Amino acid sequence: MKKLVLDLDETLVYSTMEPVGQEPIELSAAGSTFYTMIRPGAREFLEHVAQKFECTIWSTGMQAYVESLWNYLNIDGFKLWGRDYCKPVEVHDGREPFEKPLRQITEDLSEIIIVDNTSTMFTKCPLNGILIRTWRGDTNYTELSHLRYYLDWLITQDSMQRDHQSWRLETLCLRTR
Ligand SMILES: [Mg+2]
Repeated sequence: MKKLVLDLDETLVYSTMEPVGQEPIELSAAGSTFYTMIRPGAREFLEHVAQKFECTIWSTGMQAYVESLWNYLNIDGFKLWGRDYCKPVEVHDGREPFEKPLRQITEDLSEIIIVDNTSTMFTKCPLNGILIRTWRGDTNYTELSHLRYYLDWLITQDSMQRDHQSWRLETLCLRTR
């Protein structure tokens, strides 16, 4: 089965320590309260991809945070990986100090794809990374339904490694064909 890795923050949800935006959900992890909004279409997207891929949620957040959030979402079929699975990298310009080495999941990079709003997570395997637009709470958004369409096409390819930079435009072409 082909493998899909999904980032959590600003890809599927937006979490803050103070309530912001429209009706954030109040949750807690390891004794701290946080507030989360779910990206429009996320639940449908997740239920869909869980049927097709072996899925891992891979966050740079703490494991307890990921688990608490997933408890709330209550969608089966996802492995949950927090910061402990990330690899620290030395950065000097304020970028994320982590990366997500896909070889921890499989040595065969033709059968795995990662979706993340931070491209530095997949600098070592650029042909495996789909960059998604950062989401911080806007309500009217079609990115995930678009992405779902692209993944449905991608999974039919022998190798999922390719240049994904124009995935949005290519999906538009697929959809209007
Ligand atoms: Mg992110």
